[in-house]
Amino acid sequence: MTRKVRVRFAPSPTGGLHLGGVRTVLYNYLYARRHGGDFVLRIEDTDQTRFVEGAEAYIFNCLDWCGLTPDESPVKGGPFPPYRQSERKALYREYADKLIKNGQAYYAFDTSAELEAMREKLKAAGSHSLQYDHRSRMNMKNSLSLPAEETQKLLDDGTPHVIRIKINPGETISFTDLIRGDLSFDTGNSDDKVLVKADGMPTYHLAVVVDDYLMQISHAFRGEEWLPSAPVHILLWKYLFGLDAMPQWAHLPLILKPDGNGKLSKRDGDRLGFPVYAMDWKDPNSGELTKGFKEIGFLPEAFINLLALLGWNDGTEQEVFSLEELVDKFSIDRVHKGGAKFDFEKAKWFNHEWIKRSSAARLAPLVKETLEANNISNIEEDYLYKVIDLVKDRCTLVPDFYTQSSFLFERPASYDEASIKPKWDDAKRDYFKTLADTFRSSTGFSVEQIEQQFKQLATEKNIKVGELQMIFRIMLVGSKMGPGVFVIAEMIGKEETVGRIEKVLSIL
Ligand code: GLU
Repeated sequence: MTRKVRVRFAPSPTGGLHLGGVRTVLYNYLYARRHGGDFVLRIEDTDQTRFVEGAEAYIFNCLDWCGLTPDESPVKGGPFPPYRQSERKALYREYADKLIKNGQAYYAFDTSAELEAMREKLKAAGSHSLQYDHRSRMNMKNSLSLPAEETQKLLDDGTPHVIRIKINPGETISFTDLIRGDLSFDTGNSDDKVLVKADGMPTYHLAVVVDDYLMQISHAFRGEEWLPSAPVHILLWKYLFGLDAMPQWAHLPLILKPDGNGKLSKRDGDRLGFPVYAMDWKDPNSGELTKGFKEIGFLPEAFINLLALLGWNDGTEQEVFSLEELVDKFSIDRVHKGGAKFDFEKAKWFNHEWIKRSSAARLAPLVKETLEANNISNIEEDYLYKVIDLVKDRCTLVPDFYTQSSFLFERPASYDEASIKPKWDDAKRDYFKTLADTFRSSTGFSVEQIEQQFKQLATEKNIKVGELQMIFRIMLVGSKMGPGVFVIAEMIGKEETVGRIEKVLSIL
């Protein structure tokens, strides 16, 4: 029987959501949509020491911005509530008790000083492993090493304790990863992970397995950094629910530093000057702000697109994909095994492509915001759309719309006089004076008309058009950049064009 596809993204709300996290969301989302399944967002907040104010709301906001809204979540609800692990605390206990009853887990009463002493002792003895495991557990204070009555007494006295999984050596754990194929682990290397903490909260290891079971998750896609935890999870599946119920695993490749040298970190972003978070994240404890893709002017369409291609392609040369196309083409077996290098220049290329492909209507609210931030307001909508269509090919990030179009809204604050001066003489002064008069007294002011008058006058005065055009551009724009100069003149209108010519004549 084929199971209904149900996937989950299970973040711990401990800070900003980085590239890798959003890519995990994306692959989950695409898989669910592709297979008519459900995409669940579950908040894994059992580690209260790592709880960070605002991090959960930040995750919801990021997903909304990316357009990857879950079908079930703490805000949306769904058939398997609650979707926050801290609210499911009571649920986990029966599974821990079952493991203890079956001898697959045990109580451990060691204090942190005793744990430290164990590590010191093992270190002194030259042991290569300092873990709480099958080698060391019988020297510790737990329900395996103590007589049953003593254990009972400690429990009755309310002695603080944790519950640990009992992992025996000599067993091989095998499973098939959808990306990596068949994998095996030797249990002899695993430590007896804590499943329930002294405060009664489960650890991630127990909670993730119980919840994937109770929420009927069919496929678990997560970052490669979780691969070392897989053996413990698989053992728990085996002990608690049977391997037939277990989801299919896919451990996604790491996103690497631009030079390929290790996992991309927040610090690499700071060092190399690019964002690694989806949106601005302000750490409430340190007050430190980490810049996000959204705020520096990426479109969510581009962000999603570049993330999809960090570790996947459809087997063709195609690079630009809409979310709908990705849903249509995504397949987990085309996800690469090796890590994907993050290249910020390439990321910007995606944004540029998306800006070029987006309609003026799509871009208008973002462009308006960026112009308003630079004190350009009260913009007429028709005019804004025209401006966007005129300059979007020149913009890589949304704020580029300001630098590429400010002269279409306001007079240049300064002029590149250094470029004009070597070419400047009385003949040119006379030309531009006459040009301003010609414009002023003509009735229309269309691109064709402007160009025709401009060139005709140049012929009459016997001056090279190229030089004049460069000067005209600086008069209107302030510098040598921008779209066609006659188009600019038409856009800003006759009065303003004449005004700008005369302004520069008065300066030179
Ligand atoms: N809570 C884990 C995290 O923060 C989830 C890992 C998993 O998906 O199993 O990444």
